[in-house]
Formats: sequence, structure tokens, C-alpha cells
Amino acid sequence: MATASDVQFIRARSDKREYRRIVLPNALQAMLISDAEIDKAAAVMGVSVGAFNDPDGINGLAHFLEHMLFYASEKYPEEDSYSKYITEHGGSTNASTSSERTNYYFDVNVDNLRGALDRFAQFFVKPLMSAEAVSREINAVDSEHKKNLLSDGSRLNQLQKHLSSKDHPYHKFTTGSLETLDTGPKEKGLDIRGELLRFYCENYSANLMQLTVYGKESLDSLQSLVESLFSDVRNTDKRWFKCPGNPCPEQYLQILVKTIPIMEGDYLRIVWPTTPGILHYKKAPHRYLSHLIGHEGEGSIFYILKQLGWAMSLMAWEGSDSKEYSFFSISIRLTDEGHNHMKDIVGIVFNYIDLLNDSGIHKWIFDEMAAISEIEFNYQDKFQPLNYALFINAMMPLFPPDEWLVGESLPSKFDPILIQKTLDELSPEKVRIFWESKKFEGVTDLAEPWYGTSYSVQKITSDAIKQWMENAPDADLHLPEPNIFIPTDFTLHGPKEEVKFPKIIRTSPFSTLWHKPDKKFLVPKAHVVVDFHCPLANYSPEAEVLTSLFVALLRDYLNDYAYNAQIASLSYGIYSTTTGFQVAVMGYNDKMRLLIDAIMMQIAHFEVKPNRFAVFRETYSKDFENFKFSKPCSQATYYLNLMLNDQSWPLSENLEALSSLNADDLSNFVPNLLSRTFLECFMAGNIEAKEAELIVTGIEEILLKAPNSVFKPLLPSQYLTMRVVMLESGLKCLYRTKGLNPKDENSAIVQYIQIHQEEALLNVQLQLFSLMARQPAFHQLRSVEQLGYITSLSSREDAGIRGLQVIIQSTVKDPDNLDARIDAFFASFESKINELDDEEYKRNVKALIDLKLEKFKNLWEESVYYWGEIISGTLNFDRFESEVEVLRKLKKQDFINFFNQYIKVDAPKRKTFSVKVFASNHSAEYEKSSEEHDPSQTYRVEDLFSFRRSRPLYGSLRSSPVSNCSYN
Ligand SMILES: [Zn+2]
Repeated sequence: MATASDVQFIRARSDKREYRRIVLPNALQAMLISDAEIDKAAAVMGVSVGAFNDPDGINGLAHFLEHMLFYASEKYPEEDSYSKYITEHGGSTNASTSSERTNYYFDVNVDNLRGALDRFAQFFVKPLMSAEAVSREINAVDSEHKKNLLSDGSRLNQLQKHLSSKDHPYHKFTTGSLETLDTGPKEKGLDIRGELLRFYCENYSANLMQLTVYGKESLDSLQSLVESLFSDVRNTDKRWFKCPGNPCPEQYLQILVKTIPIMEGDYLRIVWPTTPGILHYKKAPHRYLSHLIGHEGEGSIFYILKQLGWAMSLMAWEGSDSKEYSFFSISIRLTDEGHNHMKDIVGIVFNYIDLLNDSGIHKWIFDEMAAISEIEFNYQDKFQPLNYALFINAMMPLFPPDEWLVGESLPSKFDPILIQKTLDELSPEKVRIFWESKKFEGVTDLAEPWYGTSYSVQKITSDAIKQWMENAPDADLHLPEPNIFIPTDFTLHGPKEEVKFPKIIRTSPFSTLWHKPDKKFLVPKAHVVVDFHCPLANYSPEAEVLTSLFVALLRDYLNDYAYNAQIASLSYGIYSTTTGFQVAVMGYNDKMRLLIDAIMMQIAHFEVKPNRFAVFRETYSKDFENFKFSKPCSQATYYLNLMLNDQSWPLSENLEALSSLNADDLSNFVPNLLSRTFLECFMAGNIEAKEAELIVTGIEEILLKAPNSVFKPLLPSQYLTMRVVMLESGLKCLYRTKGLNPKDENSAIVQYIQIHQEEALLNVQLQLFSLMARQPAFHQLRSVEQLGYITSLSSREDAGIRGLQVIIQSTVKDPDNLDARIDAFFASFESKINELDDEEYKRNVKALIDLKLEKFKNLWEESVYYWGEIISGTLNFDRFESEVEVLRKLKKQDFINFFNQYIKVDAPKRKTFSVKVFASNHSAEYEKSSEEHDPSQTYRVEDLFSFRRSRPLYGSLRSSPVSNCSYN
């Protein structure tokens, strides 16, 4: 029997779940969460063993074990039976390894928790790691590492580790590769499987494990379930790993590191080792400091750097994945001009730190922070059970049990002395500065051993920094003003009776208003979308680029004012869309109107500031250039998108257009853009109809009554829609191209099968197939054939056109070969589908029905779904119920017929398009098959745009908004 301790958990006011902490006789701790309302159950096992436990000379062993543990167990020896069980019951599974911890987790339909948990528990009781599976899975780890080799994030992270004490585990390389897990150990005469088993036996002890189980059953039955399944986990009373403290002795402080990234874009990262904030989580000294140092309002570092044209973004935070050491970091994306002023920027940062020292530690700032945190905690939204279980599990080893639901989220004790002490740590004597730029090509003299990152190191004295502070331009740095966006009115305005679906409550020549008041989630929050339809937004590459710049500048101008709203959990976004641009606001409704009006004022009175225009043009052109360094599988998907979507422009043409545009072009463009506009508005949540109408009237007023307003309503013929290219039945199209980065060893393929346009029966058949094939495809192509770390099969949708896609990124096989392997998978799956027994068919249908009947967890999930139906023109607000009806009636034979017609290789209606991106090490294959003749029923696309033009388009599902009114 486990001991259940009587913990009084500190919990949110709105939280109705039940919790219990138990400790099994083997010392395994478990947190049980019971909630009758959930549709998915979830479990997380956190093991306090991680990459820092890797034995010397076998880097990546902990991570490799994480990959291997889920292969099979003595009780369930069939490889993949766990993942298969989970996906067949509507769930998902994953795992991750960090420095001191490894996480294993899954979610599953709520009725199948027992079956899933039984399979899961066996990995901690008696796992099986066959020699053959071990020798295969090493390749997946290696492929993961090869993918990371080209990621600047991974490269810089390892460089920071490299520049630290060699005796500290922080210094290690932890992913693993063929070199560290295969050839290296072999040379030393080590058997890697033996090492894996030894590592498992030595480290995986029940006293180091924390389990979180979240189900609909009562706490008592969850408890007996956990007792029966986890009591056999072995306990060796292994000691908790404790690494030494600060990994950066003096020789690694006061350094300036210049390094060359792969991508365009210069960054300056100013980093200090600091006492971990977690040790003082109620006093939150680092949060106080990062709130001010990372502030973006008037008087902040970022505000000043922006005015000087030196920075694109700035972030400040504290963190690490250890309780023993931590870092406080400031990361600044520099402009080219900013690159030339590195010393001034560092000077300004230290001048601001001086200002914090001089102006004292303020209680009102702490109180504001504490007030927002408390509101956030008490009105927190429910989210996916798995994510909640992961959150709780992460708290378990760090906090006393009664605070497991809270963690660090409620700072409550103002301690100015501690804040001051923490501020003192951010000194010139302890700083490490990492400066990334391609401009350092040719001036670095060192290479980091694992990733080959080029860098150089120089010492910087505190005198030098003092000099930089004195020389920095005079700037009006000051503390922020009090935040006017903190909500104070939490009154709920729900309707008397529940309103089931959104409906149109107001129309005008300029706008339509959809309204969906909330009576389900009962939170003082709302979601508002204003979609601007502008026919001129996307008619050419120039127009698309100008619209993006307009939107970027809007956000930029608003930032000083609206940053405070974001801090107070009132978030907003302004994005360009395929038919114009969109404003979305979500969060507490109390002060929302203030923010919406400010955004609309900015649109109505838009003016181009040439210096900001120049900065954004520079950044955009770098971002476009960076596409060459994106993952080959992203490149493949990009070509597919370009081929499918009519009226979409290639990045190369956008880049060319951008190079000749100037501020005047944008000044001339914006009035044109806005001269024909229609607003489709959607408001959901804690907003009454009357209030919603007032908001829209207010928006129209601001836009139309502005002096020299250019707004005119859209003409009926101008209403824009997205249209998609229709492929030809029975034809296999392929597009072959070389990868854009010759240094990238990864090739990629996306094989796309186009099926149909939005229709209930075909929708559910496709989804059912995708559900059944997803895990077997992953198992065959990744685990068995080891083609590459990135391998997936999923369904996709483009403006109502549905299909299936298989993506593989690989260094071991060229794309033609990958294409053939995908076909071989479909061919082998054919017999499985044809011999599908009734039981298995029913199991999968039930899993899909359960997925469809899953309730929305929070207001956002619900309103994003309704808005999606509105914007796509399908207006199918009871989609889930109606598709479940279709699914219940679906006969197995009809499903098999669907497969034979649309998906099976050589099926009469199969329409495929394969995009193949060849890495340079597959260039021989590229050349060779370029010369070969294609088999019959294959069409080789040489030019994407001639092909796109030559194909018919699917009809659009969207009607014009005027006829939408008849829906009212
Ligand atoms: Zn991995």
C-alpha cells in the first residue's frame, strides 16, 4: 500500500480538479489528478537522471536510452506495441532528455488509461532492448544530431558550454552521434547495448522517479491503478545527482566571444552566471529585474536602441535546467548599424543597470508584477491534460508538495535586499558577451569541437566597459510608468441562455460582425478578430512585400504603448494574410477596448517613418535570404505550397521586389491598399452583443472619420478568395531540385496525395486512414528502415482541399529512393487494409469518434475553431457532431474502397505530387535520374509556375460577405 499524504494544495479559485500525492513502498512518488470532465487521460514519468549522468567517454548515452526505452518490454515484447496502442486509442507519445532529467509521457482517450499505463509502466519495470533494435536506433540519434548541426541555437548553446570549466558536466556534449555511441565505444572495446543496460540498472531507481497521472477516475481508483502497475519498479536508493555550482570560473568571465552563425542576422547576447532564481521563487528577484531590463516601453533599453536604429528585438530572462547554477541573459537582435555600435549598446545596457542601482528597488513595481501573476493564476485557462500533467510533473522535484500546482507562478514576498544582491551579480566583472555575425568570417581563429562553430575569444576588462558606458550616447533611460492595462473588473456578462454557434448580429457596407457570447468557460476574457479584406494586398510580389512592411511597422509603432498590455496578459497580433491583413486581440476584456482603439488609430493615421522602414527592409531581406538555410524538408514543403496555392509568390521574387522599394513606395501604397476594404469581425467570450456592436461602430468611426480617410467599401466583384490547384487523377507528378545550402547533408521529400474538396464522407475516410497509418509509417520508415529522424505521415488541408502527405528528411538515401520507400510502405499497407479485421476497424473508428467528440478546453480553442469555419467559408459550426454521424454509419468495405480508389499505389483516382530536394552528397543521383526516362503515368515538372498555370483550380468555398448576411 502506498502512503497518501494529506497535502493541502494551494490551488486556483476556478480549479475543480481533485489531487492526491502518494508515495509507493519503493519510494516512487506520484501525483494523481482526477477530473470527470476530461476526454483525454495523460501520464508523465519524470526520472531525475539526465545527460549529466552520461558516463565519461560515452556522450549521449542518457539520450540514447530515452530513445530505446520505449521499444519493447518483457511483458509486451512486440516492438512498437506501446505506440501502436496509444495511437489506435487517439493518443500521442513522446520523451525528452535534459541535463538532470528525462521525461516520458503520453496521452490517450480517457477510457484507455489502464491499457496505456500498463504498457508504459513496463518500461520502468522490465524493458527489452534487443541488440538489433539498439544497432538500428543509433542511426536515429545520429540523424537528430546531423539535423542540429545546422541549427544556430544548438551551435551557440554548445559554444557557451564549451567556454566553461572542463570539470563541470555543463561542459559536455549530450545529444550523441554515431561517433560517440558507436565507433568510439567500439574502439574502446565497449558494447553499447551492455552500456545502455548498465546505465539503466545503475541509475533508474524508483526513488528518483516522479509520476503524474491525470484521469477521469476517482482518486482512489487512480491510486490502486498506480499501486498495481508501479510497485514493481526497482528501488536501489540511488543518490540524487548533484552537480557542482557555477560552471564559469574566472577565466571564462569578462570575455567577448565573436562567432559566425549559419543564418543571416547579428545577435548580441550578454550573459552573467547568477544564483538560481528557483532558490528564492517567492521573492522572484530575477523576474523583477528581467521585467525592467526586458521592458519595451518608453525609457527602456529596447526603446532607446530602437530609436537609434540599432536593434530589432530584445529579450531578458533567467534560467537553466539545474538548481545548482543559472544564467541571466539579455539577447538583442542587431541591425547592421547596431553591429557597428556594439560597444555603445553594451554601454547602454550597463548604464541602465546603473540606473536600477541608483533609483532603488521599488515596491510598486513588485506589487504590479505580483498582482498580474495572481490574476493569471486564479483565472488560468484549462488546457490539454498532457500539458497540464507535464507542468505538474516538472514542479514535483523542485517544490514542496503543497506548491506543486503553483510552482514559481506566485511571487509574494518583496525583498529589496535580495533583489539588490541579484542586481549586483550583473556586473562588468562577471559578464560573458557572445556576439554573432557573418561579418566575422575570416577573423576567428578557433573551432568548437562538436559543431565546428568558428569563434574567437578576447578578454574585456571592467575599465573597458566603463569606457563604453561613458562613450555611449546620452539616452533618456528611466523606469516604466504604472501599467494601465492591468484588469480590475472581472464581471461576467454571459447571456441568459447559452448561444450555441456564432451568428451575424450586425452588417454594414464596411463590415460584418459575428458574435459568440460565452456561457461555458465563465472567464472574464474575450477574443476579438478584425479581418481586413484588401484586394490590393497580394496582387503582386511588390504588393505582398509592401503589405508585410506595413503590418510590421504598425506593430513597431504600437509597441511602446501596447507592451504593457502584453505584460497584463492582453495580447494582440497584427498579421498579413493571403487576402489582406488581420488584427487579433485576446485576453482580459476589461481594458480591451483601449487597446483595440489604439490599434485602429494607428491604422487610420499611418505614416511611414523612413528610418524604421529602412531597418525593416534590411531585416526582411535577411529573413528571405535565410530561407536557403532552412531545413530541406521545409524547403520541400515550401515548393509544394507554391505549386498548390494560386496567387502565391516565390521568396526570390519577393526579395527582388524588396531590393528596389523605398519609403515613398510604401507611403503611396498604403492609401491604395486601404481604399477598398471590408472588415470581417468576430467577437467571442465575455462580451455582450451591445458591447460588440459598439466596438465595431467605434472601429468604423475611427477608420472612416479620420481626416482624409481613404476607406471605401469593397465592390462585390473584388471579394478575394484562396484557390487551390487541382491535380490529375492517376498521374504521379514530381519536382526535383537541389537543396539551397550545399553544406547541408540532408535530402528531403514530401509526397503529397491530393484527395478531395471538403465533404463529410471523404473527410472522415481520409482522417480514419491517416489515424491508422501514422504510427505504422513512422515505425517502418524511421524505426525499421532508419531513413531519418524527421519522418511523418499526416493529413493536410489547403483552403478546404484535403490530402495526405509523407515527409522524410534523410542523409542516408536520396529522394528518388525515399519516394520509392514511401510507395513500398503504401504497397505493404494495402494487404493490411484489405485484411483489416472488424475489431481493429471498430477500434480505430471509435478512436476517431472520441477525438471528434473531445470538448474544447478553453475559450481560445473554441473561438479559433469557429473563426476557422468563418474564414474558410465552410460555416460548418456543428462539424464534429455531423461527421461523427457519418462515421458511425461508415462500413468497413466502403473505407477499403476509399483506400483502393484514392490512396493505394496505382489507384485510379490517386493524384500525387512529390517534391524532392537533393543534398549535395546526393548530386550524383540527382544528375543520373535527370537523364533517365520517367515511367508511364509520371509527369516531371520542370517549372512550377508553368505547371501551376496549366492546371484547373478548385472552386472557392467562400461566398462574398454580403450574401453571408442571408445566414443571419
Ligand atoms: Zn532524441
